[in-house]
Amino acid sequence: MDLSSIPVIDSHCHPFDPSREDDDFRVYFNMSLWRPPTEVVVDTIVTRKLMRELGKFLGAPYGADQETIANVRNEQYKADPKGYTQKLFKSNNLETMLVDTGFPHEEFTGYSVDLKTFADLVPCKVYPIFRMAPTIFTIFKDPRATFEEAVDIMEKDMNKAIKQDKVVAMKSIIAYETGLAIRKWSKKDAQEAYDRFRKDKNRDDEKIVREYFVVMGLLACKENDLPMQFHTGLGSAPILNLLDSNPILMQDILADDDIKEVTVIITHSGYPFTTEAGYLCSVYPNCYCDVTAITPYTGPALKKAILSLLEFSPANRIMFGSDGVIIPETYWFGIKQGVKVLGDALGELVTADWITAREAVEFAEMILHKNAQKVYKL
Ligand SMILES: [Zn+2]
Repeated sequence: MDLSSIPVIDSHCHPFDPSREDDDFRVYFNMSLWRPPTEVVVDTIVTRKLMRELGKFLGAPYGADQETIANVRNEQYKADPKGYTQKLFKSNNLETMLVDTGFPHEEFTGYSVDLKTFADLVPCKVYPIFRMAPTIFTIFKDPRATFEEAVDIMEKDMNKAIKQDKVVAMKSIIAYETGLAIRKWSKKDAQEAYDRFRKDKNRDDEKIVREYFVVMGLLACKENDLPMQFHTGLGSAPILNLLDSNPILMQDILADDDIKEVTVIITHSGYPFTTEAGYLCSVYPNCYCDVTAITPYTGPALKKAILSLLEFSPANRIMFGSDGVIIPETYWFGIKQGVKVLGDALGELVTADWITAREAVEFAEMILHKNAQKVYKL
């Protein structure tokens, strides 16, 4: 099914600054934080397809090899970063981007990207997402802050994001830090854990403190009627432990009396734990998922991921996007191939007579933009 005429909302991606590209752009199609050498990426299905599509799109000579296409790309991008980015993005039906402004960030990458500057670079509407990690990092870095001061810093940053920056969601990457088996702790428990952790940096108390802050975020979302995105599934190796990032670990917190009204988004659909993600979306009324990051990085396996989400998840719980970062091709390829493969997946369901062609279009509209419009109140 050709879905290319349906408008797309990218419900989770990052801002980028063209002047910061400092490596062979193909190596960004890899999840490692240790930049792989080019030879690791040139022979993946994703890179092969990316380079062929890019070659066609940029007018490289027919049948050109990867190096020639890479040179054509680099020349065009370096000559006019904004023109190049706009050309790529306009070729998709991408209308809106929800941007996690906490990565890149000074604390982690040595620079941040201003949202206004980014909005000027791309031909789309842009809305910010508040990432909690930089604030938590600041708190953990300062050995003098008391627990009360730490809570105060968190509250101030969240308030600024909500009231001043008008974010459309908050985002937690606790999956990377102490995992998704989040418990709710009393202030007293958290305070004691914080004091012990400051002395000896032990992992058990770190977990309690981080979970306390995440629950603060969830409660702020509840009070302000905002959704909360959680990183789940695959992520940047080696800091992510995949065993701690299976979204099924969130069952207790999703069912908690204080939390169950907060809209929680399982970003990246917990890939490869997509059946689990779909199941959560089907049994917890507050639970949604998105296929961001699966779109640019898994190639044809995206079809399998979408079909496994749909084993349980209603189509009205699944959202779309790229998780694009650092280079424009991650967004462009994620959306372009993602829309195509979504069409393949829904087409397969029509052929097998599970849904009608009309229902497939209805599902596609929900996944590509309608669900995000509703969840993020766009
Ligand atoms: Zn992301």
